[in-house]
Amino acid sequence: MRRFHVYDSRTRETRVFAPITPPRVGMYVCGMTPYSAAHVGHARTMVFFDVVARALRRWGYRPFYVQNVTNLDDKVIARAADSGDDPLALADRQFRDYLASMERLGVRSVNLYPYATDYVPEILAQVRVLIEKGFAYRSDDGSVYFEVAKFPTYGSLSGQRREELRPGARLELDPRKRAPEDFVIWKAATPGEPSWESPWGPGRPGWHIEDTAMTGRLLGDRYDLHGGGVDLIFPHHEAEVALAESATGVAPLANYWMHGGLLLLEGTKMSKSLGNVAVLDAVLDEYGPMPLRLYYLNVSYRSPLEFDPARSLVEAREAYDRLAQPAQRIAELLERGGADREGEEISEGVEAEADDLVERLDTLLADDFATREAIAALYGWGRRVGELGSLARYSGASLESLYGPYEWAEEVLGLFVRDASRTGGAWSEIVPVLLEARARARARGDFAEADRIRDALAARGIRVQDGADGTRWEFDTSG
Ligand SMILES: [Zn+2]
Repeated sequence: MRRFHVYDSRTRETRVFAPITPPRVGMYVCGMTPYSAAHVGHARTMVFFDVVARALRRWGYRPFYVQNVTNLDDKVIARAADSGDDPLALADRQFRDYLASMERLGVRSVNLYPYATDYVPEILAQVRVLIEKGFAYRSDDGSVYFEVAKFPTYGSLSGQRREELRPGARLELDPRKRAPEDFVIWKAATPGEPSWESPWGPGRPGWHIEDTAMTGRLLGDRYDLHGGGVDLIFPHHEAEVALAESATGVAPLANYWMHGGLLLLEGTKMSKSLGNVAVLDAVLDEYGPMPLRLYYLNVSYRSPLEFDPARSLVEAREAYDRLAQPAQRIAELLERGGADREGEEISEGVEAEADDLVERLDTLLADDFATREAIAALYGWGRRVGELGSLARYSGASLESLYGPYEWAEEVLGLFVRDASRTGGAWSEIVPVLLEARARARARGDFAEADRIRDALAARGIRVQDGADGTRWEFDTSG
């Protein structure tokens, strides 16, 4: 297992990462509230933590990555009421769309996407413990609130004193609460909304407690890594800490907290509730998944990132082409001749440079996931490869060496998924069989059948090209 460092938002320092039970890493990232289409701000967080999970796997850890789905809350209920839908069905549908978008973006590292409403028994158990221990109280309407004053370290994650955390004197005190900063963990049922029976009357879970109930069940009282966008530190993650640590007596809830920077639109946080969003699928349609991944990863994950598609994504598309061009050239040559391809050998010096670069890329990522520096190093490699002149004269083994840094980029950054034989998984076995069937159909003059196979592959993002030297296929990453 490679040693690496992360900036931990809780202790505000960069620390060596030490899992509780190596090589396992319990990893939890706050996921979607699926009431409308995902936007490019969500995707920034998801791509970054995808890279974290990919790097962990490469380095010999075994991450178990859980990302929750808040499939019921006020926004889901309001949206469903607008459209006359069942709230849970609406959330389920939106979540499936989100998964399809993540698939397009190459985010496949999440092991489990639990729905909040599947954890009502765990939520009820935690509410009960919090009441028994005196941390929570039932209000007259049958809701249950967490009493922030009972948790003296409240505010330590976000670095604020409790007095500063009151949600503004402007707000009138809700008569159901003992103090303005108290937050609801069990919401009394409103007629017509989904609800569950409880000892305090029918109701549904509050937001923060779904996370702690799920992680308690899936990752234990204490786990390794909690992630999310920086806007979640307060109040959401602060509330999670208070709930879990009060209920279990175990601290800290998570040994490392990682927070990704915001995506800004004209200087303002992109947020569905503010309405200033760029819908992820529309951006993917226009610019393609690889330029978008590059755009996200070509900046420190903790920095804010201004979203200005007409400039930044057009640039990212050009930058991606520049980065990918040498990789694609090598991959094409290898695809034709394979590793057995005959030709000149590159010098041992160049081979060592490639190996050293792969080591350096891992070292860069091991320093709090410095994706930007890694990408800069990959550009440098592209220039180095350019100096070698025509690549067609080199042997398969030499080309494999030259491809090494790009292979790293595929594995860890999720870039260059074009080369099907390297990253296609099951596709690289299935597609050739389908292409043989297509060739047989063409040979017997059944062009309708041949086109049907080609179109079915195209629908899965696989482009088929017929040329003089046979039929080739690749993942279409242009969009
Ligand atoms: Zn959460």
